[in-house]
Amino acid sequence: MHEQRDAAVGQGTSVAEEEAVVFTSELIRIDTTNTGDPATVVGERVAAEYVAEKLGEVGFETTYVESGAKGRGNVVARLAGRDASRGALLVHGHLDAVPADASEWSVHPFSGAVQDGYVWGRGAVDMKDMVAMTLATARRMKRDGIVPERDIIFAFLADEEAGGDYGAGWLVQNRPELFEGATEAISEVGGFSITVKDGVRAYLIETAEKGIAWMRLRVRGRAGHGSMVHEDNAVTKLTQAVARLGTHKFPLVLTDSVRDFLAAMTDLTGMEFDEEDLDGAVAKLGAVARVVGATIRDTANPTMLSAGYKANVIPSVAEAVVDCRVLPGRQAAFERELDEILGPDVEREWITSSRAVETTFDGALVDHMTASITAEDPGAKAIPYMLSGGTDAKSFSTLGMRCFGFAPLRLPADLDFTALFHGVDERVPVDALKFGTRVLDRFLRNC
Ligand SMILES: [Zn+2]
Repeated sequence: MHEQRDAAVGQGTSVAEEEAVVFTSELIRIDTTNTGDPATVVGERVAAEYVAEKLGEVGFETTYVESGAKGRGNVVARLAGRDASRGALLVHGHLDAVPADASEWSVHPFSGAVQDGYVWGRGAVDMKDMVAMTLATARRMKRDGIVPERDIIFAFLADEEAGGDYGAGWLVQNRPELFEGATEAISEVGGFSITVKDGVRAYLIETAEKGIAWMRLRVRGRAGHGSMVHEDNAVTKLTQAVARLGTHKFPLVLTDSVRDFLAAMTDLTGMEFDEEDLDGAVAKLGAVARVVGATIRDTANPTMLSAGYKANVIPSVAEAVVDCRVLPGRQAAFERELDEILGPDVEREWITSSRAVETTFDGALVDHMTASITAEDPGAKAIPYMLSGGTDAKSFSTLGMRCFGFAPLRLPADLDFTALFHGVDERVPVDALKFGTRVLDRFLRNC
């Protein structure tokens, strides 16, 4: 049965491959800059309408939802599967993108230029590429009457780049019925290849994300005159605590995702990762070390300071903000360690806190990801990894879904892919989009 359906890949897929390239370019041309300030957000509604129209054209019924604020458009559609008793798969992608300064780019960031084998522009890899591949594949399935094994829910979302309060976070809180029955989800920052040795590629599938927790610190002291002896200075106490925290090295913790990743890299390359010098060993991984190096311990980086209003007045309060990134399973231990470092004089509170998520790299869905990659890239190996940042997966995991980063792209060996995220001259290879569309097509019909 699978052979028959594989034979059907042919023509419908090649239309989808072409559409994926065109849609990536057209989506980039819709400026969906999300600065984090709701007053400045543009384009999400237009992008959501674009997606709804493309889905409607082939017969999808779509639900358009503005999540608590005008213009914050989200679109959800469902494709019924063969076996309604199985949990649905959610395929989600965000429509917004981070700002871009055109003066730094070699093409205009909202041009969507297709040149030199790449589609160029803000969102090309984060994540209008995956939105376009998903859209093209969904259209192909509907057009050709392909019934997947299980229900597939497609969700195109606002506001991921500012935490999803007007996107995934809002929908999960206010419209959970849109995702009813979904047990697993796929989305961004996974499924891309790294070349580990001549012609051998590993595809990194995201199975975990660190938690993001922004913390405010506050120290209260006695106000006073700057000319006098003063032993209860809030600024002094706060900055001492901030310096202790900023130079503290949290303990090395190998979670399952990172351990599996390192073991797979050892298999593929023979490289050993000595736990005594893991930082040194990880540095040998090249560009991907940037991500992996941040997933072996918690971090707490001070980012903002504020106190005082005049040079000769000792203020009674001093405050700081710290960006904390916490490994799965480490939250309680992390907080105990924080309290020890900060000491009794420092108050702390969470400004935002989205917890780490982790799932295991096993089961039928993982087998289907692996099989659909190796069908297109024989000899490749799919391996799990942990993302040091965060995505909408954090919101969907609160509904009990297992979340994976699986936006398949076969990349040239010399492309520094992770640097393109939020980077200048963000671009995605045309070939990679076509490859990813073929992988998604195979994956979505069989999973
Ligand atoms: Zn993204």
